Amino acid sequence: MEKIKQDGSTNIAIPELSEEIAGLGEIALNLWWTWNPRGKGLFELLNPYLWKESGQNPIEMLKKIHKEELQNLCKNENFMREYRYVRALFKQYMNDKTVYSEEEPLPIAYFCAEYGLHHSIPIYSGGLGFLAGDILKESSDMGLPMVGIGFMYPEGYVRQVIGSDGWQNGANETIDKDTAPIERVLDKDGNHLTIQIPFIDPPVFATIWKINVGRVTLYLLDTDIDQNDPWDRQISSHLYTPDIHQRLRQQIVLGIGGYRVLEVLGVKYSILHLNEGHPAFALFERVRTLIENEKIGLEDALERVRTTSIFTTHTPLQAATDVYSFDMMSHYFGDYWKRLGMDKEQFMRFGLNPDAPQSGFNMTVFGLKMCDHINAVSKKHCEVTKEIWKNVFDQADTASVPIDYVTNGVHLPTWLGDELFEELDRALGENWSHMQAEPDLWLRIQDLSDHKIWNLHYIYKVRMVNFIRELVRRKWADEGIDPLVAMAEGVMLDPDILTIGFARRMTGYKRPDLILHDLDRLDRIINNFERPVQIIFAGKAHPSDNPGKKILQRIFKAAQDPRFRGRIAFVEDYGESLAKYLVRGCDVWLNNPVLPMEACGTSGIKASINGTLHCSSLDGWWPEGYNGENGWAFGGDVSNDEADAAALYDTIEQKIVPLYYTLDEQKRPGGWIRMMKEAMVSVSPVFSARRMMKDYLNKFYIPASRIVRNMEKTS
Ligand SMILES: *Cc1c(COP(=O)(O)O)cnc(C)c1O
Repeated sequence: MEKIKQDGSTNIAIPELSEEIAGLGEIALNLWWTWNPRGKGLFELLNPYLWKESGQNPIEMLKKIHKEELQNLCKNENFMREYRYVRALFKQYMNDKTVYSEEEPLPIAYFCAEYGLHHSIPIYSGGLGFLAGDILKESSDMGLPMVGIGFMYPEGYVRQVIGSDGWQNGANETIDKDTAPIERVLDKDGNHLTIQIPFIDPPVFATIWKINVGRVTLYLLDTDIDQNDPWDRQISSHLYTPDIHQRLRQQIVLGIGGYRVLEVLGVKYSILHLNEGHPAFALFERVRTLIENEKIGLEDALERVRTTSIFTTHTPLQAATDVYSFDMMSHYFGDYWKRLGMDKEQFMRFGLNPDAPQSGFNMTVFGLKMCDHINAVSKKHCEVTKEIWKNVFDQADTASVPIDYVTNGVHLPTWLGDELFEELDRALGENWSHMQAEPDLWLRIQDLSDHKIWNLHYIYKVRMVNFIRELVRRKWADEGIDPLVAMAEGVMLDPDILTIGFARRMTGYKRPDLILHDLDRLDRIINNFERPVQIIFAGKAHPSDNPGKKILQRIFKAAQDPRFRGRIAFVEDYGESLAKYLVRGCDVWLNNPVLPMEACGTSGIKASINGTLHCSSLDGWWPEGYNGENGWAFGGDVSNDEADAAALYDTIEQKIVPLYYTLDEQKRPGGWIRMMKEAMVSVSPVFSARRMMKDYLNKFYIPASRIVRNMEKTS
C-alpha cells in the first residue's frame, strides 16, 4: 500500500520501514544525501556490500536488504547514533530559512531539457544537464526560491557498448522507475496527476513526477502513459530525438506543457530562466496566460515576459540550433497565435534569423528576442555569441549586443572527493561552504601538508584504477571478451605512473584523437622507460554522429595496439559515476578543442578543484582560469592540428613529465604538489557554483525581481 504524504505525493519504490528508521526512506528520497559525505556514509554503513552492488543507490539497497538485517540494525547502537545524527543534519538543512543572497530574489522557474543529478536518474546526456543539476543543488544550498521543470525520459540513457572492432553500439537503458528517487505527484483524488498539453491536436497527455533536490523541487513530464497512443508515448522517450517532428513536439511539451505544470500545481514564480532554446515555448505560454488570465494587452504581456525572463545560450555555432520550418510551426501553432492576438507573420517573426530568414523558426533567436536578460557561459564564449547573433539585435558592432556572460561553476560538494571535502572541513572551518566564493578562504589550502595532499590524490588514483579494472573484469567474466579488448579497456593501468585523462563527448570539434596525431612521438612519450605516461579516454559519440564514432574507433585501435603496451585505455560508458573517479584520479586533465568551439568545458573545473591539473588550449573557461601556475595552456589562437599536436607533445615532454617525476627528499613531487595546491586555491572559489549563482543573482535574478516589485507597486 502506498503511503500518501502531506504534500500529495507518493513514492512507488521505498519499502515499508519500521518506525525507528523510517527517516531512512525520507533521506533516500532526497538527493541531499548525494552531496553529503555523512549521508553517503550512513547508507554504506547499512550494508557496505549491497551499497556497492546497488551502484550506490539507497532505494535499490533498501529493497534488497533483508527485514531481519534491518531489525538488527535498529538494535545496533553505532548505526542508530549515526542515523539520528544524519537525520538531524538533514532536518536542520531542510528547515534552514536563511537565504544566502544580499537581496532576496523572487521565485524562479528553471527550465531545461536535461538534468545531470545522479546516475540513478539517467535523464541527461552531457554538460548542459550537469550545469542544470548543479544549479538546482546550489540554489538549494543557498536557500533560493527555485523550482525546476524537465523531462522524464523513459529510455533516456544510451548505454555505450563498444565492440571488439572499436565501433560504438548504443543500447537504450530504460529508467528503473522502481529504484529511482522519484515520486509521483498526485491530484486531489489521489491519482497520478495528469495534464493535457494545450494546443496539440489530437490531445497529448503527460503525468508528473518530482525529484527532491534538497530544498528545490524538480518536476518532470512523462508522456509514456496509457492515455497516449504509441507515437505520442514516445515524445519523451529519447533526449534530443533526431526525428524533427518528434523534436518539435518534445519542445512543445517541455515548454508549454512545463509551463502548464506550474499553473496546475499553483507553483509561485516570477522569473523564468531558460537553459538553452529547447524549452523556449514556455515564453509564449507565459504571454498567453498573461493575456487570458490577467487581461492585459499583447504589448504589455510581451514587455512583462521580456523583463523577467533569462535565457542562457550554450552553442558557439548558428548551425547547432533548432530550426523548424514555417509549415511545421503553422501545423501546431495555427490556433495558438490567434490566442496571442497575433497573425502568422507576427508570430513567425519571433523566430526569424536575419542571417537565414527562409530557414524557419529558430529557437535560439526566439529566446534572444524574448528575453532581456541573456548570457553566454564564459567570457570567451560571450564574445563569440555576440559576433554570431549581432544581426538579431541589428548591431554592426558587437560591443552594443546586449549579451552578458556567467561563467559556469560546479557544485563543490558534488564534485569534490569525500575525503578532500572532509579535509576542507578541518582546514577551512565547518562553515566554509557558505564562504566558498571568497578567494581568501582557500589560501588555507596552502597549510595542508604535501604528505596529506599527495596521499589523498594517490587514494583517488588507486580507486580510479581499481574501478576501471573491476568494470573490465566483470565484462570479461560475463561476456568472455577478447583479452585485447580487456587491455584496451584498461586492465593494464598502473596507479604509479603519470596519467592523462581525456573524457568528454567523442565529436569532431573536441579533437579527442589530437594526441594520436604523431604516433611515433606519442610512442616515445608513453614508453619512456624511466618516465612512462598512460592515457585514459572515455566519452560517448552521439548515436547519429558517425565521424565521432570513427574517432572513437581510432582511439580504441590505438589502445589495442601492442606498441603502446596497455598504456592507452578507453573506458566504456562515460557518465556521472565514471566522471567522478576520473576527475579525481587522473594527474592531468586534457582539453584540446578547435577554438572557439568549447563554450565552457566544465569537466576541467571538476578536475582542478580536486588537484587534477588542467592542460588545455585557451578556450572556454580556461582564459579566465589559467594564471600561469595552476596548470598548462598550449596551442595558438587559431586551431591547426599539426601545430597544436606538436605544442601538446612539447608541453608534455618539457613541462609535465619532468615536473611529475622530479621527486624531493620525501620521494614526493614537490613542484607538482605546489601546482595542485595552486589549482585548488585559484579555481575552487571562482569556478564554484556559488560564485556562478551569485552572478545569476546580481546580473539577472535581482534586477528582474526589482522590476516585478516595482510593477506590483504601481499597479
Ligand atoms: C561535467 C561533465 C560533462 C561536461 O563537461 P565537458 O568538459 O563540457 O565535457 C559531461 N559529462 C559528464 C559525465 C560530466 O560529469
